[in-house]
Amino acid sequence: MNLRALASADPDTPERQRNCGVVPVGDRVEIRIKDGTAYYCGLETCGNVWLCPVCSAKIHHRRAAELREALDTWEAQGHSASLVTVTVPHNLADRLAKLLDAERDAWKRVTQGAAWQRLKRKVGIAGHIIALEFTWGDQNGWHPHYHVLLIHDQDLNAAAIAQLHAHVHSRLAAACRDHGLREPDQLHAVRIDPNVSATAAGAYVAKGGDWTPAEEMTRGDLKTSHTGSRTPFQILADYYQTGDTRDRDLWHQYTTGDPRLGRRAVVPRSAWADARPGSRARAQRRAAGGRGR
Ligand SMILES: [Zn+2]
Repeated sequence: MNLRALASADPDTPERQRNCGVVPVGDRVEIRIKDGTAYYCGLETCGNVWLCPVCSAKIHHRRAAELREALDTWEAQGHSASLVTVTVPHNLADRLAKLLDAERDAWKRVTQGAAWQRLKRKVGIAGHIIALEFTWGDQNGWHPHYHVLLIHDQDLNAAAIAQLHAHVHSRLAAACRDHGLREPDQLHAVRIDPNVSATAAGAYVAKGGDWTPAEEMTRGDLKTSHTGSRTPFQILADYYQTGDTRDRDLWHQYTTGDPRLGRRAVVPRSAWADARPGSRARAQRRAAGGRGR
């Protein structure tokens, strides 16, 4: 039994995902071989980046490649990037759905309105790429957080970093108040890694929680302190390995914790489009009512 099949064994797993890699699309299924690896062709795929271990790996891989290309160009043009990590306060008793609502609301508040537009202009932010990542820790339970890659024209100076931090932190604090969470920590709730390699940080954001050892090394100092915490797929894999029913229950909490995970992708397409070099011109055309793409 593989991980996808294990996930499908959960009766609450959506049907579309249970059919992934199992149900034929037409009246025949082919086995193809490419580069010495055999794979089935003609089976349904669910495309769920959150819940399906197989589709998630494929999608993350593809997005990472797309991003790498765009960010290589961005960097080659002498521009730079910063990585912002936004975390709502959380502990073992907090339900995942509540934390997610607060987290989503916080980022919405960060980017809506004139203040964000002013800040972007002032410090030269061209766009951003955002990824939601989940981990679970024995000490503090669910830990949904955003990794946001801000791409900007030139390095941020100390004043710009402070302004950015204050802007994000104040919106996060307001969201936490409204969602009944405690005040976010001044130091850790909003973490900014300024002026990092756009390409390395892009790989970090694109791959979410699924890191191979090689990538762990390349992101180097970008690694946040995830000691002892696991991603949902790691939890599922641990259940597969050990049969520990607590891990099965955690996986279940994750898959049923928020209905949006059953249907939404990790990064809104528009955010990616806006992050591509040259996309500001497209965005302006879109805003002007012309053809955006
Ligand atoms: Zn799938």
